Amino acid sequence: MSPHDPHDHDHGHSHHHHHEHDHAHTHDHAHPHDHGNGPVLKYSDDSVHDVRESDLYPLLAEALRAVLVERGVVSAADIREHLEALDKVDDGMGGKIVARAWTDPAYKQRLLANGSAAVAEFGIDMGETQLIVVENTDDVHNLVVCTLCSCYPRAILGLPPDWYKSKSYRARAVYEPRAVLREFGTAVPENVTVKVHDSNADMRYLVLPKRPAGTDDWDAERLTALVSRDCLVGVVPAAAP
Ligand code: FE
Repeated sequence: MSPHDPHDHDHGHSHHHHHEHDHAHTHDHAHPHDHGNGPVLKYSDDSVHDVRESDLYPLLAEALRAVLVERGVVSAADIREHLEALDKVDDGMGGKIVARAWTDPAYKQRLLANGSAAVAEFGIDMGETQLIVVENTDDVHNLVVCTLCSCYPRAILGLPPDWYKSKSYRARAVYEPRAVLREFGTAVPENVTVKVHDSNADMRYLVLPKRPAGTDDWDAERLTALVSRDCLVGVVPAAAP
């Protein structure tokens, strides 16, 4: 598996806390048993657990991982190497791409026309995944989400932050994006349109933030420092100088 596998979702990174829950039969907090229509799991010790939807994905991911390893499709070492490669993604790369676009109009044009090809100029291999770069302007503010799971331009930004994967962000980014943005400290004026982009397995989005005022004489290297991971997802603007 390469770090740029187009289906680079969460492979069992975040399931550990669920195991506590599974085994804590004598916990002292109230345990609601009306989780809705979630499936009911019957364990070999005859205990029965209903499963909240949000708990289901880590269980499925773990089950899938176990089957793939057992059948020899991937090895445990492959999975570990894949996660290590993701952990090592240089998170300054997004800043370099944006600073280049701010200072080189021809590059910006290439980036907006074909993101995957333009980031390949920085040695980033998007594989089969289409990278779509969306530009913030005086009229449009772009916000990126994956409502289904946690698709994210990992080849550029590494592993997504927990808030990006949260159920709350995934739902609210779509139906109340301005409220979500305010919680990140970003007040988007009413006359600016907020566009929300829903990522999926074939398409990843990267926001090209607005170049901050007062940086006209800055070179690309200096501009890079103003670009955070969060502004590439669209939850904040690029930092003011
Ligand atoms: Fe996803």
